[in-house]
Amino acid sequence: MAERLSSEQLMELEHHHGAHNYHPLPVVLERGEGVYVWDVEGKKYFDFLSAYSAVNQGHCHPRIVGAMVDQARKLTLTSRAFYNDSLGVFEKYVTEFFGYDKVLPMNTGAEAVETALKLTRKWAYMVKGIPQYDAKIIVCEGNFHGRTTTIVSFSDDPSAYTDYGPFTPGFVRIPYNDIPALEEALKDPNVAGFLVEPIQGEAGVYVPEEGYLKKAFDACKASNVLFIADEVQTGIARTGRLLAVNHEDIKPDIIILGKALGGGVFPVSAVLANDEIMLTIKPGEHGSTFGGNPIAARVAIAALDVVQDENLIERAEKLGNIFREEIRKIDSPMIELVRGKGLLNAVIIKPTNGKEAWDVCLKMAENGLIAKPTHGHIIRFAPPLVITEGQLHEAIEIIKKSILEMV
Ligand code: PMP
Repeated sequence: MAERLSSEQLMELEHHHGAHNYHPLPVVLERGEGVYVWDVEGKKYFDFLSAYSAVNQGHCHPRIVGAMVDQARKLTLTSRAFYNDSLGVFEKYVTEFFGYDKVLPMNTGAEAVETALKLTRKWAYMVKGIPQYDAKIIVCEGNFHGRTTTIVSFSDDPSAYTDYGPFTPGFVRIPYNDIPALEEALKDPNVAGFLVEPIQGEAGVYVPEEGYLKKAFDACKASNVLFIADEVQTGIARTGRLLAVNHEDIKPDIIILGKALGGGVFPVSAVLANDEIMLTIKPGEHGSTFGGNPIAARVAIAALDVVQDENLIERAEKLGNIFREEIRKIDSPMIELVRGKGLLNAVIIKPTNGKEAWDVCLKMAENGLIAKPTHGHIIRFAPPLVITEGQLHEAIEIIKKSILEMV
């Protein structure tokens, strides 16, 4: 039998042989089931990150893993040079599920964002009639859309862009949650699209004012500009709606999905749009070797089936309300603000007695719950949506105990 390595040894292996592009919490996980994960020493934790909302359906969901294993035994990859017996079935399913004419499948969130940007530019030249290579796309301050060179070109987070230039031109950045700024930017006739997160996840679960998305959508429509919603983190039931834009009853021109579309077991991302936009891209102009592969297709169908059959939308809405209400009751000077929608929430931590968000996360891990700070002082709480009310109350007790133990 292979030698079993301890957490310490495994962390040392990563540190020694892997690039240092992450700073993980010192927890080494080995197994997951539903809302729980176990480390290599057998300690059990509530997972309150859900791999940045990729594991909405819970760890190792048997139906999703089953779909993956069944397909993996039959056919895994054909590339798009040939047809396969799964892709079309997925395409019909997902377009009907979300109500769009067409889908373009990719693998990661960043690839899907890139796809949406290319589609927007193509539409600008072929349909809107913007002079070639003059198209602009409006983005928001505090955005996070991935890590490619083009995407970091329009980030305002120094840790995302510093030393990665020269940067891709053609982006205009405006404040988030600011309709007058958007209206001003839309005066430029060369604007083709507005790319926005319905809630800014990586920025720290920043929820815009009610009505912002609808007003932004209407302003875009009045200027013949595409409204592009990046729902990679907010989509697929996370915020208590199928899509976060459904809170305001708008239908974006382009929807970007990733993460939970693969049920936490396989990378699947996709862009949804109607024909006028999607059919501007012609054969050979865009693609990916693994995009739309048979495993991804079967996994994504199962992942969406689970969302529907297990009522994850309603569950996220209901349990999210309980979560915020209960966390707001905790009497600690460290809790500055609790915000979020559905089961995408954040607690803003006020450093107290030299203790910060990172220390709270270490304490919570010790007490059996893992979550991760973002931007130093914000802790995101986003458990798998399959969490039960009883489990949620247990988890809230751990959070409460940990915060109260800090000061
Ligand atoms: N868009 C948003 C809104 C995201 O939150 C993320 C990932 N955190 C991405 C895009 C990028 O996804 P990926 O890491 O799969 O490339």
